[in-house]
Amino acid sequence: MRIDPASHMQPAGTVLPPNDTCELLARRLRTDTQGEVLFDDGSRGRYATDASIYQITPVGAFVPTHERDIATAIDIARDLKVPVLARGGGTSQCGQTTGAALVIDNSKHFRRVLELNVEEGTATVEPGLVLDHLNAQLKPHGLWYPVDVSTSAQATLGGMAGNNSCGSRSIAYGNMVHNVLGASAWLSNGELVDFGPVGTLGVRAAGIAQFVRGLARQQHEQIAAHWPKVMRRVGGYNLDIFDNQSEKPYTADGSVNLAHLLIGSEGTLAYTRSLKLKLAPLPRAKVLGIVNFPTFRAAMDAAQHIVKLGPTAVELVDRTMIELSLSNPAFRPTVETALIGKPAAILLVEFSGADKALLLPQLKQLVELMGDLGLPKSVVEMPDDARQKNLWEVRKAGLNIMMSLKGDGKPVSFIEDCAVPLEHLADYTDALTEVFARHGSRGTWYAHASVGTLHVRPILDMRVDGAAKMRAIAEEASALVRKYKGAFSGEHGDGLCRGEWIEWQFGPALNEAFRAIKRKLDPIDLFNPGKIIDPPRMDDGALFRFAPPTAPRPYRRIELKPVLDWSGWNVNADPVTEVATAPGTGGDSTGGLAKAVEMCNNNGHCRKFDAGTMCPSYRVTRDEQHLTRGRANTLRLALSGQLGPDAFTSEAMHDTMDLCVGCKGCKRDCPTGVDMAKMKVEFLDHYKRRHGHTLKDRLVAHLPDYAHKASRMPWLLNLRNSVPGAAWLGEKLLGFSARRSLPAWRSDTFWRAKANEPGLFVERDVALAIARRGGKAAVLFVDTFNGTFESENAFAAARVLQAAGYVLHTVEKRGGHHCCGRTFLASGMVEEAKKKAEALIDALLPLARAGVPIVGLEPSCLLTLRDETLVMGFGEKAELVARHALLFEEFIAREIKQGRFALALKPATQPILLHGHCHQKAFGAVSPVMEVLKLIPGAQPELIESSCCGMAGSFGYEASHYDVSMQMAEASLLPAIRKQPNAVVVADGTSCRHQIGDGAQREAVHVAVLLERHLLHGDTVGAA
Ligand SMILES: Cc1cc2nc3c(=O)[nH]c(=O)nc-3n(C[C@H](O)[C@H](O)[C@H](O)COP(=O)(O)OP(=O)(O)OC[C@H]3O[C@@H](n4cnc5c(N)ncnc54)[C@H](O)[C@@H]3O)c2cc1C
Ligand code: SF4
Ligand code: SF4
Repeated sequence: MRIDPASHMQPAGTVLPPNDTCELLARRLRTDTQGEVLFDDGSRGRYATDASIYQITPVGAFVPTHERDIATAIDIARDLKVPVLARGGGTSQCGQTTGAALVIDNSKHFRRVLELNVEEGTATVEPGLVLDHLNAQLKPHGLWYPVDVSTSAQATLGGMAGNNSCGSRSIAYGNMVHNVLGASAWLSNGELVDFGPVGTLGVRAAGIAQFVRGLARQQHEQIAAHWPKVMRRVGGYNLDIFDNQSEKPYTADGSVNLAHLLIGSEGTLAYTRSLKLKLAPLPRAKVLGIVNFPTFRAAMDAAQHIVKLGPTAVELVDRTMIELSLSNPAFRPTVETALIGKPAAILLVEFSGADKALLLPQLKQLVELMGDLGLPKSVVEMPDDARQKNLWEVRKAGLNIMMSLKGDGKPVSFIEDCAVPLEHLADYTDALTEVFARHGSRGTWYAHASVGTLHVRPILDMRVDGAAKMRAIAEEASALVRKYKGAFSGEHGDGLCRGEWIEWQFGPALNEAFRAIKRKLDPIDLFNPGKIIDPPRMDDGALFRFAPPTAPRPYRRIELKPVLDWSGWNVNADPVTEVATAPGTGGDSTGGLAKAVEMCNNNGHCRKFDAGTMCPSYRVTRDEQHLTRGRANTLRLALSGQLGPDAFTSEAMHDTMDLCVGCKGCKRDCPTGVDMAKMKVEFLDHYKRRHGHTLKDRLVAHLPDYAHKASRMPWLLNLRNSVPGAAWLGEKLLGFSARRSLPAWRSDTFWRAKANEPGLFVERDVALAIARRGGKAAVLFVDTFNGTFESENAFAAARVLQAAGYVLHTVEKRGGHHCCGRTFLASGMVEEAKKKAEALIDALLPLARAGVPIVGLEPSCLLTLRDETLVMGFGEKAELVARHALLFEEFIAREIKQGRFALALKPATQPILLHGHCHQKAFGAVSPVMEVLKLIPGAQPELIESSCCGMAGSFGYEASHYDVSMQMAEASLLPAIRKQPNAVVVADGTSCRHQIGDGAQREAVHVAVLLERHLLHGDTVGAA
């Protein structure tokens, strides 16, 4: 049934039950289950969105602990007539994971492989298990689950089944429906039913099978007439299990498996408890041919011929995507390896099998084919596995690369996965490009050319005229899909953006057959109402995350004066050229902060556990609240007034930001550049201005101010670490954990002890003069931590640089030292931080002007000069200093490259383990440490694959964070260190060293210290 736009009826699944029902639901869940019951506004807001343009506030969220919690929750919800919405990673693009329902999150506790049968090649899994985690467990057995969605690090098997997901290699392996053998699921009446091959079904399932078979028979002619024949059809219910229409039948022998009825049903028919999956042998060898095309149309035309060679993937990347990838420093080197000249598009053609030698001829066939098609010398042959892997990573990041566009207009998913037969692909893409142009937009094309499913998203501003354009474009696109006999929904599902097109695609009779299926399995409309059956209009603005002015609650931003400069985000971009307006012109009443927050498109990439840093607090809690996405959503809701007045500075917001350790992992790893560490600085300042600073805040913040004087009486201050009860008292009075030692004070600080090393530093004028002559001069920026508590690090760095021939200066001020302001930023005192930072910048400016490199030791301090000080309003001088600021290891690596650095060093006698500080990782400064360590003859440093150490400045010292801090450290860092008792551990962060000392009782050293230990004394190389 198509909803009449004039109708005032609220669409199904969008209306909240009365308040007392919601309260009763929460009460009963609390008493009858052991799960987490999250009914507060913030939690509901965090579960109101998936990776689509929609937002529907749920009744509440429920995180079950045991299976019986789910069954009980379904029973209670049925009893109270509250809909139920199952959720995995919440990465759906069409709104199918949003609804005014009780959202049940399986992803925290239902992550087990229940049974693995290697001989049979099957696995039975819980619905919250993430694909990559399953594949990691299968790898040792030479198996994998081959539905390789781009979101493999986040997507759960339950969600993949719900959406009938498919990956780049679907031409070889099919969709989810081709790879599921059975499912156990609850029906809305609470029955637990096994779905599987029809011959094996129990009474209840057999009854369902009989009913659906009857419907299929009844509708045979309609099915033959209206059912898209392409493999990539995921719209509607899989009625064709009894009347196959797919290019690739769902089972190899043509038999029927009733579990396939649930696949792609978007949680509307049953609640999946477990899935039995068909595994595949892990291909032992792969080769890749990258075909470079002079025109986009040539690429589209070629796909139909290339698939005849039997590839396992043919993936498109168009010119815009190539350009966007080239502009990303992380992707550029990889993309360059794939290009011949400046192609309009490339196709990644993969062949895989058991033996690489047997695949190479297929690569040659590809080269020959392209020659026959008039494109000789167009193929980059890539047999090398590492290079292939890198290129696939760029391709997988496709959507995220596109979504990094700043401004209110964003690429919108609604016709992004139409599938057309390959012989029509070129005409279809040409025609759709014209449609976009007519509507003042443009599409970027990429993805699955092998199966005629190309992702394309026009850039629309949903706050302004996006809805109208969306409908107009969808209508014209649908006419093309019909003309070319394709499927309107070919990968991501129906949800809210394509639900209304089901009837258009299949016709009223089949739509009624779908309704009959829903009634048979879920007669009370308990599961995910308003999806597939009775969906709302795709352009119902009331359901948009950024609701237009005509909606009942239009999206508005509150008025807020930020303390940091967010004007770089306060822009608008042209939907066709994507050129952004000048900073500060975007019309954001929060000065750009809200727009920066809105960059989070909910793709869920931060829910990851693999390499990289993001997001340590989620890694240990697995809570949506303690995830970059959860924080960004909460900030967005607060900054748009959706959480009530003053929500931005509320205690609830504090709870959400509290476990963000400011590691900057998201700054580097978030594909759209959400920089939560900076947002936390902004938030904390506003929050503390409203609620006041604690004594602990002041002690932490002002450390650089009192460090000099305090270090005169170390014996007194160190009593805290030695006198019984003192630590306990410190926890009670100040909030520093009694389970922690605090850094030990000493009187021989760098600034005092420096007087005993007369030749080590020169006056500023000397350094300037040497620099002007092109000589080897540098300024060593000694921060509070290395200067006060670990002065040996600063001396080690100075001696190493001096041994390599550098003349050093260090900046000081009367009565103390300069500080970057970091401790003030971390304590919510941005104005004080600005004062400190500006004084430091002013001191460094003359040196920077003369081109003297500024070398620092503590990553969080030095890198403040390349990050936060640039958004403090200091203008050009901060930028100049930033351009000259380098970490010790970055400086040496740079000098080595320029042939200016050499050291005579003693060979390594121990294995070396390196832990990278989060800020080093965020700024790509870990590989320079590895490079520098390799200067030691015979050294083979090993990088510990770790996220944040958990100490993060003062975070881990605080009593309220101690447990989380230790869990972060135990996640990978400390076990890796314990595994190698003989290794010397290198860690450049002062907090990291402390955490390693506390947690593993091992000394960790700054790289400068290790180099100094290896110096062949007296062997000075090179002179100034
Ligand atoms: C950047 C990006 C790239 C993507 N790439 C791909 C791609 O390559 N291929 C592809 O197919 N998709 C892709 N998607 C879409 C999405 O990631 C996939 O559909 C994914 O499989 C969804 O998994 P999830 O765990 O996030 O599911 P969710 O969004 O949590 O749920 C999906 C559906 O399944 C239902 N569901 C979840 N659990 C259960 C359960 N236990 N019982 C019943 N129903 C349940 C939900 O109600 C919902 O309707 C992409 C999305 C993004 C943001
Ligand atoms: S914070 Fe970044 S990685 Fe996380 S969901 Fe948002 S955009 Fe994706
Ligand atoms: S800064 Fe670190 S802890 Fe905070 S949201 Fe980003 S990745 Fe997570």
